[in-house]
Amino acid sequence: MGGDLYTEIFEKVAAYGSDPIEKKPLYHFYPGSKILSIGTIGCNLKCSFCQNYRISQVSPDEFDNFKLFSTEELVQIALNDEDNLGVAFTYSEPGIAYEYMYEMAKRALNTRLKSVLVTNGYINKAPLLRLLPYIDAFNVDLKAFSENFYHKMTHAKLEPVKNSIRIIAQSESHLELTNLVIPGMNDDFDEFEEMVRWIAGETGKDTPLHLSRYFPAFKQNIAATPVNTLLDLFEIAVRHLNYVYLGNVADERRSSTYCSKCHQRVIDRSGYYTEISGLDKKGNCTNCHHHIIDYI
Ligand code: SF4
Repeated sequence: MGGDLYTEIFEKVAAYGSDPIEKKPLYHFYPGSKILSIGTIGCNLKCSFCQNYRISQVSPDEFDNFKLFSTEELVQIALNDEDNLGVAFTYSEPGIAYEYMYEMAKRALNTRLKSVLVTNGYINKAPLLRLLPYIDAFNVDLKAFSENFYHKMTHAKLEPVKNSIRIIAQSESHLELTNLVIPGMNDDFDEFEEMVRWIAGETGKDTPLHLSRYFPAFKQNIAATPVNTLLDLFEIAVRHLNYVYLGNVADERRSSTYCSKCHQRVIDRSGYYTEISGLDKKGNCTNCHHHIIDYI
């Protein structure tokens, strides 16, 4: 016990690009904008179905394609494009590159840039609280609502993820959740309904939930999620939550945003094409004036 730990991935980027904010996915955070997205290597989970296993499940000495970017350089790159919203930490698990992400988000704080985290939520309370003032928006994966799933499929635990979600929901940061639906693993209707009830109770009915279609990857060869399963789960989720979306599947109706009061369509989405069609500049429905989006 004791001693010092050193990070081996500070200022080392394994993947980067400019993505639509909808790809994170964030649907209620400056819709239609693009964001500089970066990821490094590593993850504290070992999901058998990981789509990004080539960067998430390697160690620094196994990866030879790093690009080196100081935090100053990254902020400058992000600022140079005036259409760019900010910086998203994504692709692998940002919590693994905590020091890099923390320094970067701190540096971005006094600029026009927004900082976004796409995370598995598997982080202790103290470092999460330390990070919160610098992160504008989170998308957290809530992979299932059973300890058995987390143990078997991710080698981790559910309860710490629930705790992180609770903490973020009580903060000033924007929160959206993603649930990747894997046939036979986390698509039990009762368990799913328990999860959406929990979300409604803990984070509020207006928390956007993205139900995402799974495709085989890494060590997992279960067949892709049947679209009908997603449709059934969607119907369960909308009984409890106001903004539920389908992802990884072509469904314009269920990926667009509707006013939860008058049901007017307010944002049209088709793939990554986004058009704000029924919101005023304050994020209110143009038909009934109900407030829908804080960040527009
Ligand atoms: S948490 Fe995400 S990045 Fe990490 S192993 Fe699981 S799916 Fe991959």
